[in-house]
Order: sequence, then C-alpha cells, then structure tokens
Amino acid sequence: MHDVIVVGGGPAGATCARHAAQAGLDVLMLESQTYPRDKPCGGALSPRILDIIDFDISPVVDRVLSTAVIHSPSGRKVVCRRDDVAGQMVKRAKFDHFLAERAREAGVAVVENMTAVAVEQVRGGVRVLSPGDSFKGKILVGADGVNGIVAREIDVRWGWPDEEVAFCIVGTVHLDSDDIEWVMSVPGEPEVVAMDLYFGIQQRGYGWVFPKRDELSIGIGCRMDLIGDIRSEWGAFTERIREEKGIHLDFLRKDSFRVPVGRTGSRFTGRRTLLVGDAAGLVSPVTGEGVYYAIYSGRIAAEVIAEAARRKSPLYLKEYDVKIKQKIIPELETAEFMADVLFRSERNSEIVCEIASEDTTMRNLMIDFVTGSRPPGKMRISITKRLFTRHPLKTVRLGLNV
Ligand SMILES: Cc1cc2nc3c(=O)[nH]c(=O)nc-3n(C[C@H](O)[C@H](O)[C@H](O)COP(=O)(O)OP(=O)(O)OC[C@H]3O[C@@H](n4cnc5c(N)ncnc54)[C@H](O)[C@@H]3O)c2cc1C
Repeated sequence: MHDVIVVGGGPAGATCARHAAQAGLDVLMLESQTYPRDKPCGGALSPRILDIIDFDISPVVDRVLSTAVIHSPSGRKVVCRRDDVAGQMVKRAKFDHFLAERAREAGVAVVENMTAVAVEQVRGGVRVLSPGDSFKGKILVGADGVNGIVAREIDVRWGWPDEEVAFCIVGTVHLDSDDIEWVMSVPGEPEVVAMDLYFGIQQRGYGWVFPKRDELSIGIGCRMDLIGDIRSEWGAFTERIREEKGIHLDFLRKDSFRVPVGRTGSRFTGRRTLLVGDAAGLVSPVTGEGVYYAIYSGRIAAEVIAEAARRKSPLYLKEYDVKIKQKIIPELETAEFMADVLFRSERNSEIVCEIASEDTTMRNLMIDFVTGSRPPGKMRISITKRLFTRHPLKTVRLGLNV
C-alpha cells in the first residue's frame, strides 16, 4: 500500500506529490494524459509564485512582464505597471511537464495515461480504480482539476453550480518573437511589452491577450450563470483583436474549458482524502488565477500529510481544512468582493477604469492586488479608503458596499 496516491498531475498534484516524497513518503501520482500535455490556460503566473516554488522555473518562463494594459468597455486604455515583475508567461504544456519531472526526481512514481474512475474505502486506506488497474494508498489527494472525479467520489461535491464556475474559450496563435514585441508593446513605448486585459466583453468576466515568446494566448471567460451567446462574443472579440493588432489569427489550438470562480465550499477533505487546486475550487473569482493557489494548496496538503503520517493519525488530515481557511480563503473572499464591484455591470468596469486612469495610487493598488503583492485584508481596506476619500461620487455610483 502506498503512503499517498495523488490523482492528477497538474501544478497542484505535482507540487503535493513532490513535497510529500521529500518528506520521506512513498508517493504514487496518476495522470490521465501523457506529458507534455496541454491545459487550456492563459499561462500568466503572478510573481509571488516564486515565493512558494523552491526551484528555478526560469527555463520554462517564456516572458517576464512588468506592465498590463487594461481596456475599458468604452476603449479607454489604462497602463498599469510595476517597478519589478507583474507577470511571468508560461506555456502550460512545458511548465506542467517541468513540475512533474521535479516530482519524479524527488522519488514520486508517476504513472501517465492512467485515469482514475472511482475511489473505494478499504481498511486503513483507499483504493483507486482505473480501467484494468487498481491502486491502494493510505491517503488520497484529489488534484484532478475542475472536471475531476475525486470530490464526487468522496461526497464533497457533485458538480459545480453555474454561479461557481466560468466557461472560457482560449486560442493560441503563433507569431515570431519580433512580431509579438511589435503588436504587444505599450502605445508610445515600443520597448515595453505588456499583457492586455479587456473589460466589458462579457458580464462577470473579461478577455485577454497574453504574449509568450512566440505565441499569443487569446481568450474570454464568463461566469456560467451569466453566459450569453459566448460563440458570437468570441467571434466579435477575435475580430476586434485582429483589427486592433493588425494580425491574421490562424489558431494553432482552440479549446473551451471551465474554471471554478465561485464561493468555495467549506470542506476540502473527506475520509483520508484532501482536495487541492481546481478540484478544491481554489481560483481567484476576479482574475481567474489558479496556478498559484494550486501550487500553494499542494504544498499545504503535503505538509499536513507529512505531519499526519508522523503522528500516525489520519484524523490530523482535518487540519488541512483549517489551514486552507486561514491561508487561502481570506484572499479569495477579497477577490470575490473585487469581482462584485468590477464586474457588476459594464458601467462599473468603466468607472473603475476611469478612476484608475486618473489616479496613480489606485492604479498601483490594482496591479498590487492582481499580483498579490500585499496581504488581501489590508488591500481591501486600502482600496475602499482610497475610493471613498478621493473618488466619493464615483464610489457611490459603483454601489460599493463596505
Ligand atoms: C481558459 C483558462 C485560462 C486560465 N488562465 C490562467 C492564467 O493565466 N493564470 C492562472 O494562474 N490560472 C489560469 N487558469 C486557471 C488554471 O488553469 C487552473 O487553476 C490550474 O490549472 C489548476 O491546476 P490543478 O493542478 O488544480 O488542475 P489542472 O491543471 O486541471 O490539472 C489536473 C490534472 O489532472 C488530470 N486528471 C483529471 N482527471 C483525472 C483522472 N480522473 N485521473 C487521473 N488524472 C486526471 C488532468 O489530465 C490534469 O493533468 C485558467 C483556466 C482556464 C480554463
């Protein structure tokens, strides 16, 4: 019987598996696909990810950006910049493969092309069933993403209510590196390459163009319960990008995929089982950032598992719920508040952009929030204080509820 079975080898699973193996545990990781496998994603990582990854990821970072251009619904452009890094752009196929290799190096037995289809409770552990095979472990980690089976098998969640998940369409276009620098530079600053965010494309969502070294990731996402005719919105958005950037959009890949963006549940554990990353619903409702939370929750899970093993107490796994509520949920609650203000209506998105374009402090607060550079509680206070003291009339129009 393995000490730990991790189902799913994305950022959450690979991180958890690696740290559990480094703690001396016998870890098996089951991944349904074969590396390098793609994952529909913008591939934008916030800089704080470097605080929670203890090895060099620069070999798989395509571009490091300091600037984001926010496009308001009316077309106003707000340039937000940081002195240091605002975002690191990766291709998920390479990034995820890199993380899985680090897990393998730490001693994790990685089994690719192996899909878990059911989980059974057995004496002293769990049995994971996959077509033609089964695996026994003392502790199970559900790292199988938004469409995973583990949360359902352990009776924590039977699906995502429409208001807790967003539907995204994302496409990848190849361009030469020089062309990317040309089309993604900040207006009037040809040497500064930026990521583009577009508000007002959809209700409760946004559009993006993210530059990699030789690819653009272009996408839109919207909360499922508010979704309109997303195919036409995608058509209109790509047409706008084609015109604005003057490029032909010949998509190498185009996918649709869901991402959790709602109020997360209060339970991330079941009997001898922990849920991490998207499987636990740990994604920012305002930006859709999930890789950071996947890696962070994977680390927290591994720490709790190692301690539970040391104490020989599966009951200790409950501590994971406590730690997630302390370390991750407050931040997601602040993000929920921000999403409410920003995406309540097209008018709100416009007012926020108007304020940001006039007020450098607000612009800095916005980029600090997106990059997670300040604690969320303090951030919420700073933003509301600034809004009420410097922009009282606009704040009333936002319908802000403190
Ligand atoms: C269109 C889109 C754009 C996004 N853009 C960004 C972004 O720019 N930045 C950001 O930080 N986040 C972004 N996200 C969110 C981010 O992609 C996820 O939060 C992140 O991938 C979560 O990592 P994970 O390891 O929990 O799950 P995943 O990355 O989904 O990995 C789950 C793994 O489990 C495997 N698996 C699934 N089921 C089984 C099974 N039954 N048995 C075995 N293996 C299984 C899958 O093959 C997969 O490898 C985006 C999401 C979408 C949909």
